[in-house]
Amino acid sequence: MPEEVIHYLRDMQDAVKYALQVAYRDALRDERHRIPSPILLRREIRDWFYSKYDYARHHINPVCRTAVAMLRSYRKNHHGELRIPEVKRLATRTDGELFRVVDGRVRITLRPNRYVWLPVNTKDKHYEEYSQGRASELLITDKKVCLTFIVGDGMKPLGSRFMAQDLNFRSVDSTNVLLSGQPSLTGVETRSLKEIVRIQNDFSRRRKMLQTHVRNPQKRAKKLGETRGRQRNRVVDALHKLSTRMVRENPDASFVFEDLRGIRKTGGEKKSRRFRTYLNRWPYRLYQSMVEYKSPKRTVYVSPRGTSSECPVCGGRLKHPTWAVSRCVKCGADYGRDRLASLAILCRGLRLCGRPFAVSADWQQMKDEYLYPGGTPGAVGAGGTDAASAPNLDAYTEVHV
Ligand SMILES: [Zn+2]
Repeated sequence: MPEEVIHYLRDMQDAVKYALQVAYRDALRDERHRIPSPILLRREIRDWFYSKYDYARHHINPVCRTAVAMLRSYRKNHHGELRIPEVKRLATRTDGELFRVVDGRVRITLRPNRYVWLPVNTKDKHYEEYSQGRASELLITDKKVCLTFIVGDGMKPLGSRFMAQDLNFRSVDSTNVLLSGQPSLTGVETRSLKEIVRIQNDFSRRRKMLQTHVRNPQKRAKKLGETRGRQRNRVVDALHKLSTRMVRENPDASFVFEDLRGIRKTGGEKKSRRFRTYLNRWPYRLYQSMVEYKSPKRTVYVSPRGTSSECPVCGGRLKHPTWAVSRCVKCGADYGRDRLASLAILCRGLRLCGRPFAVSADWQQMKDEYLYPGGTPGAVGAGGTDAASAPNLDAYTEVHV
């Protein structure tokens, strides 16, 4: 455990000791010797806590909860007698606001904008299943951290249909499957995100203008900040429209997404600036959470690892002769990368929900929908120059936002 965390745990232990004394004193003063609630206790030790520690303000909550719980259980175990129990364990239970699970690690906010990263054992047999639930609590001790997820209760039901979506810079690609009986593929569609791309481009042009034309650095910073805020608002608006429409058109479907929470952290660091801009996926993550709360059905998240390197049809390795093409030599086909990715996401989602699915059954009538439209230089599929065997462009239904 990092030194910083040990230090934090010691501070929290001291704070619990102090809170115990205050709560004990309150109980003695109360005519019916009632132990104060965590909320009352917090009001009393707030000033002390904030002047003594510079941790994020939420850290006071577990302190008060622990102190109250310890007093209560002491009294229960000692036939109504009340004393200040000894604080032995170096452990704290952190609120949901103070940590996040990002790409297989927990990020804990100790101080405002000051994080500690700890590894999570995602190899646990049930990790992927449980992590579908909401992370509710984090137990930190000097030896380990334990994550608690809320699963089952309060969870929305699974849909009678799965709609797996691959989110991209320019489009949302969705593969649909009907779940009654044996799962069967029912369609794939591409929805353009032109509107959002346009907003992003407009604003990046505007920012470049400001960079070159506004000389006064303070004024420039202010203008740039305003532009960024306005751009964000417009993108958020567009995402609201898109997500509302998706959910309204598919009220019976469970949406399946790639879990994008860690993407920004894993890539980008050493890559070019352009690539980093591309990886700035907050709009997609936001879109996912909008769909998740608007949809009456449960949303499923799958690991994004390898969705574009393994063929969901035959399990072969995919190559990408160009960015938009996924070539599988084993299938002997060039697929549209995004559509094929949505199929891969679907397969993972079905497996995760205990409905493993082999693409092969419906594949012959669906295959054309996934082929890359328009010839690729040196395509492995259709026999080169024969126009009739080239995939039909019309088969690629485009819906505009
Ligand atoms: Zn294949």
